[in-house]
Amino acid sequence: MVFNISSKQESFLKQVDNVCKILRPYEEECYLQEKFNDRIIPEFAKVGMLGCPISRRYGGLGYDTLTYILALQRIGREGSSIRTFFSVHTSLAQTTLQSWGTEEQKKEYLSKTTNGNSIMAFALTEPVAGSDPSSMTTKFEIRDGDHYVLNGKKHWIGNGTFADIILVFAKDARNDNNGNVSAFIIDRNSCPSLRVQEMKNKMGLLTVKNAEIDFENCIVPKKNLLGPKGKGLSIAYSGLIDGRLSVAAGALGVMEDCLEESMIHSKRREQHGSILAKKQLIQDHIALMVANIESSKWLSYRAAGSVQKLHNYIENMKRTEDWQSKLNITNKEYSLLRKEADTLASIAKFHATNTAFDTSNRAVQIFGASGYRKTTRVARHFLDSRATTIYEGTNEILKLKIAAMMLGRDYTAYR
Ligand SMILES: Cc1cc2nc3c(=O)[nH]c(=O)nc-3n(C[C@H](O)[C@H](O)[C@H](O)COP(=O)(O)OP(=O)(O)OC[C@H]3O[C@@H](n4cnc5c(N)ncnc54)[C@H](O)[C@@H]3O)c2cc1C
Repeated sequence: MVFNISSKQESFLKQVDNVCKILRPYEEECYLQEKFNDRIIPEFAKVGMLGCPISRRYGGLGYDTLTYILALQRIGREGSSIRTFFSVHTSLAQTTLQSWGTEEQKKEYLSKTTNGNSIMAFALTEPVAGSDPSSMTTKFEIRDGDHYVLNGKKHWIGNGTFADIILVFAKDARNDNNGNVSAFIIDRNSCPSLRVQEMKNKMGLLTVKNAEIDFENCIVPKKNLLGPKGKGLSIAYSGLIDGRLSVAAGALGVMEDCLEESMIHSKRREQHGSILAKKQLIQDHIALMVANIESSKWLSYRAAGSVQKLHNYIENMKRTEDWQSKLNITNKEYSLLRKEADTLASIAKFHATNTAFDTSNRAVQIFGASGYRKTTRVARHFLDSRATTIYEGTNEILKLKIAAMMLGRDYTAYR
């Protein structure tokens, strides 16, 4: 695979690297105190990372998917908490708004998010609807012909304690069959009845805040319907393509950091008369870590190319009349591009998160007891990686999805 990274892209990645170095000691402090790292937003905003793949028209840097993925890979080394912030703000939320929003919606909302003035969240999961979002119970109804009213509960929502703009998915109260989900842009300031509660006692990802959000008669102006009515699940699943790719990229960074930390430690620590790096069983761990990184790298970069093709297609379609109806699975070209991006991003996420969990586990083993303390990055990577095989589609669901993509829709084996 050959990549042409321009000097401009290189310099952007260097700026991201610098911010990561600045944030490293503070991130550790925040992690141990289980508090949100409030320097993520201002520091990354300075280099434009809060709108990296978003069009310049809305204040972003307009970078391609691969550049964004390389930035996330670097950020992943600092821990999955920081990377998760971007997976939610940019990959799940901004990208979905960019793809499905009208010009007016993007001007009003997206352009506030690229400089960090507003932060985004993506609210799909509910206490009763996790792997099966079609069973959601959050409902919307039209009132007085000019606004919607939302009622329901979402949980585990990343950035949820402080996000200003939330993409929310709800079913039509009048006809709540499983396909009848629509997507909405919620401006938190204009919905005072919204109740948000932090979800505490998490195992890892301690500097990112997850929330339970109650929508009680939340008023949403009609203009804030995102995409065609009734296409909410398709919109959510399109966001998850970008989301999964971002998780895979972060997992790569996690593995690289675990490998580097393990090599340093194993060359320093002596037992039985020689350094650990000389022991064959330690070398077994190192070799498998390298294989994990290389296999995940190519799956992720390949998926990035495919996701880029999908975005290019959507951007071109959006220049035409009636574009929303063309972004539909009955459009063969769109359907094929989307299927390829979806499959490759699912494979990359499935493989990279499994291997990141394995790699961080091996790193903890190489560190021995010292790797059992949250003060080491390998311990934090281990705890954080556990979540990555669960969120944005559990790895079981991804396996079923990948198999169904190959066998055909009739073989979907979720039930
Ligand atoms: C740290 C964290 C951050 C998150 N952030 C967000 C967010 O920002 N926005 C959001 O909307 N959601 C978020 N989520 C929710 C996440 O996407 C869900 O947890 C996930 O989709 C799984 O749903 P569940 O937890 O309800 O598990 P369940 O769906 O109850 O699944 C439990 C187990 O059963 C398995 N299972 C389920 N169905 C099948 C099947 N058909 N065949 C085989 N096995 C099956 C699953 O793989 C899993 O192992 C987050 C979760 C976590 C942990």
